[in-house]
Parts: sequence; structure tokens; C-alpha cells
Amino acid sequence: MNKALRKAVIAGNWKMNKTRPEAKELVEAIKPLVAGAGCEVVACVPFTNLETVLEAVKGSNVKVGAENCHFEKSGAFTGEISADMLAEMGVEYVIIGHSERRQYFGETDETVNKRTRAALAAGLKVILCVGEMLADRENGITDELVAMQTKIALKGVTAEELKNVIIAYEPVWAIGTGKTATAEQANEVCAVIRATLAKLYGKEAADATTIQYGGSMNAKNAAELVAQPDVDGGLIGGASLKAPDFAAIVEAATKG
Ligand code: PEP
Repeated sequence: MNKALRKAVIAGNWKMNKTRPEAKELVEAIKPLVAGAGCEVVACVPFTNLETVLEAVKGSNVKVGAENCHFEKSGAFTGEISADMLAEMGVEYVIIGHSERRQYFGETDETVNKRTRAALAAGLKVILCVGEMLADRENGITDELVAMQTKIALKGVTAEELKNVIIAYEPVWAIGTGKTATAEQANEVCAVIRATLAKLYGKEAADATTIQYGGSMNAKNAAELVAQPDVDGGLIGGASLKAPDFAAIVEAATKG
């Protein structure tokens, strides 16, 4: 059992929610509830909320992340934000390859790889999302698909850089649907990801990498999910928008 070798991380993904006053209110409500957390606590927020939330979390244990970044350093990419821009602000984490970006914004395994490398080069920590669609699971190709996504996303990423990568296993059929993977299903695929990392970087590096589960994790089901041997916390969408629910998940990971 190598769970003690790595840090559990509970990261909220606020998606396209919250104006600046609402963001301040939410993060102020979260801070005291998670002050005693025994895991890393991250709020990944819309670009427009980054400055507000960075200011609000000063002196607390809550870390701040963005929800995406572009892979070029600068240039004619209207509407995009670079990894350097995030790093300069003091942002620590960035979500890359979320299934909503893959589904709605043309994200591919190749662009996920480019964004991952750009974010790591800028000194950001990456929460790299992988996961199968329902049809993939029904066709029995979940393990192969998730291994492939992991492999392509990490192409060119060094063992040293891997220390700044968290992988989030997020079955697409479980995101925002209320359908959670069973604890066994979540653990099984997280273990496949860890085995893939072991092939690429060796067992020691794989054992040291945080692998989260994400997909309708909530205050009720978190404890069972985060207690699994290969599940090191979670990426939380809907439930991260309610301070008491998010705090209950953090508490479950602390006990985890
Ligand atoms: C997510 O957005 O990464 C997510 C897991 O969403 P939800 O918790 O709402 O399923």
C-alpha cells in the first residue's frame, strides 16, 4: 500500500460559474471550513475570478487554479490566456484536458499534450483530465483508452516535471450527471493509470503521483471513493459550488 507516499488533493472546478462578488463570498465561506484540512485544497476558478480569489485566499491553505490555458507563450490567439500569464498572477494549478473542453472546444490528445507541456514549463501544476465516454465503457475499451490518453498527454514530459502533474480520472458519463462510478470502478481505472505511469516513468514515480477521481463526487459518496487504495482525492464540479459540501469532501479526504 503506497497511499502514504502521495498527497491527496481535493480540487474544486467552478466551471463557468460565479461573478467576482459571488466568487469572493464562496471562497470566504470555504476558507474556515477547510482550515484544518489534511489534504491539499484547490479552487479552480474562471479567469475573471482569479485575481479576486488569489487575494481572498492569502494567509489560508486554499490554493488557486485556472480551468485551462493556451499552449503558445504569446501572440495572435484572440481570447486565449497563456500559462505564463497565469503563473505571473500567482496561480499555482491549471486544469488541462477537461472533458467539457474535449467535447465542446475541440480539445484533442495532442493539444492536451501541448497545453500540459506549456503549463509545466511555466512552473504551473497540472491537473490532467482523462476519461472514457459511456460508449467506450460499453465497448470494453476503457482501460486502453485511458492509458492512451495518459500516454499522449505526457509525451515529452520528464520524470522531474511529472512531480507537478496530478491526473484526474473522470469518466465522462459521470460528470455533472449524478451518476458516480462505483468505488471499485474508480479504483480500477486509477490503478490502470498508475500502471501506465509505471511503464513510462518507473514504479517509484508512479507511486508518488496523485491520481484523483472526478464525476459527481459529493458529500455523501466521497468517503468511499477517496478511501480506495489508488484514489488520491477528487476533482469536484457541482459540489464545489456549495461550501459545506466541498468542506465535507475535504474532510473525507483528510480521513481517507
Ligand atoms: C468536473 O467538472 O470535473 C466534475 C467532476 O463535475 P461534477 O462533480 O459536477 O460531476
